[in-house]
Amino acid sequence: MGQADTSRLQSFLSGRWTDGNDQGATLVNPTTERALATASTTGLDLAAAVEFARTKGGPALRAMSFAERGAALKALSAVIHEQREALIDVGIANAGNTRGDAKFDIDGATGTLAAYAHWAKSLPDSASLPDGEGMQLGRTSRFHGQHVWTSRRGVAVHINAFNFPAWGMMEKAACALLAGVPVLSKPATPTAMMAEHIARLVADAGILPEGAFSALVGSAGDLLDHLDAQDGVAFTGSSDTARRLRVHPSFVERGARLNVEADSLNATVVASDVDADSDCFDLFVRDTAREMTQKAGQKCTATRRIFVPDELVDAACEALAAELGKIQVGDPSQKGVRMGPLTTAGQLGDVRAGIDRLAAESAVVTGGSERITETGYFLAPTLLRARDGAAAAFHAEEVFGPVACVLPYSGAVTEAARLVALGGGGLVTSVYSDDRKLPVELASELAPYSGRLYLAGSRLADQGTGAGTVLPSMIHGGPGRAGGGEELGGIRGLHFWMQRTALQGFKAVVEGNFGAASPVSAPS
Ligand code: NAP
Repeated sequence: MGQADTSRLQSFLSGRWTDGNDQGATLVNPTTERALATASTTGLDLAAAVEFARTKGGPALRAMSFAERGAALKALSAVIHEQREALIDVGIANAGNTRGDAKFDIDGATGTLAAYAHWAKSLPDSASLPDGEGMQLGRTSRFHGQHVWTSRRGVAVHINAFNFPAWGMMEKAACALLAGVPVLSKPATPTAMMAEHIARLVADAGILPEGAFSALVGSAGDLLDHLDAQDGVAFTGSSDTARRLRVHPSFVERGARLNVEADSLNATVVASDVDADSDCFDLFVRDTAREMTQKAGQKCTATRRIFVPDELVDAACEALAAELGKIQVGDPSQKGVRMGPLTTAGQLGDVRAGIDRLAAESAVVTGGSERITETGYFLAPTLLRARDGAAAAFHAEEVFGPVACVLPYSGAVTEAARLVALGGGGLVTSVYSDDRKLPVELASELAPYSGRLYLAGSRLADQGTGAGTVLPSMIHGGPGRAGGGEELGGIRGLHFWMQRTALQGFKAVVEGNFGAASPVSAPS
């Protein structure tokens, strides 16, 4: 596995391992606060790295069939899975993950690769994918139209957030590689040890052709300056960074594509049919406590706003506080610990300040902004109770930690929808109800504000994944504040890396070479 445990992380660019010419950033173990590694990209020739991927990796990938690319994804999944235990240790040390948190990240990576490998088998043995049915365009059937997808000729730049260094890297890579586009992955620096380990596995395995995969470990430097119209960037991170990226000349002037997956004030709505003695209520409490505390709440899909009918607020606060009280917080390498520290000192400071701001408009039910240990970036799971469900702070600020707020509402569908919409668009909204009609009414009202709706109830208690789990078969992304982007969703996930073209011509030419049933409806 190469130099997996060195304290100097490296980048894999232009087909070789390299690093910057200064000390760079220091990565820290958030449990002990000890330095683990450094990473620098200063002085690296990123123009050459982009060009290498474009000119070596692109043609080599496009020379492979969809089935061959899928087979490569399957092999990569196996290679990474083989190192699962070593990678779990990295997640514990560098990200403060519990074993469960680390597995969630790593198995998400290998599972997504395997899913795309499976779907690749159903794709045609051709350079393009048909999009929907062909159609007659002229007076007779000779003049025919067909939409097709072809691989873009540029580079897929993937900029990832710190919270899912394994899954974020590989869910993006799976889509781009299967689409025939070379990947240049840029993990977030604070947790880049995991990403660098995986990059070494990918590079050392020799499964992908030269240039098909690169990794920039450390700051992005001038990477974006070298992109043009055939390139794309899939960004995951904060709205602040997204705002800066959106105005970069590569996108605004040169037409490179940008997909943004950003903040989200994910909501849970307990519908008016749920009472405190029901199985549905118990499920809501268990799910919400887990969604708040998995990865110490540093999950883009974590629940932030919990809308509860007025008469259920006392019971919900009491039950959630009791459930959160069972969660042991501490050194994530220890058995029994279910929540580790926040990942960085910066995160700890931001979350503490965020709790204080929200607490100014709410009561603290459990937890708070005080550190609970002298060493390590630990906080207790924190539940707040808002006096006014519409108070601006709860709908404006994402506190990216184990923090959520119970917000009262009347139980009316229209009010729930109005309050959820105040968040400006989210990745996932959950609804808890055992009624047949209420979830339908809520779904219709909430869908325009949500990338995904998780309709939970006691009938699915033994099967539901929880709202926080992103499945490769379903799209991930959300409107407005959440970035407006879209990833995954089965074969849909390839489209961002491909060009859709309307082909119009003689039917035998168009249909014979490009037509087929739409692969979009292929297995999901
Ligand atoms: P961040 O500070 O915005 O950083 C995200 C990535 O952007 C990092 O790789 C960072 O690199 C890079 N970056 C920063 N400035 C850049 C620039 N000028 N040019 C190019 N790249 C730049 O976010 P984070 O703290 O890592 O992640 C937490 C946030 O991500 C939360 O707000 C969370 O909601 C969001 N998130 C969203 C999703 C989703 O799917 N919607 C998933 C996970 C997380 P460095 O680390 O080197 O600075």
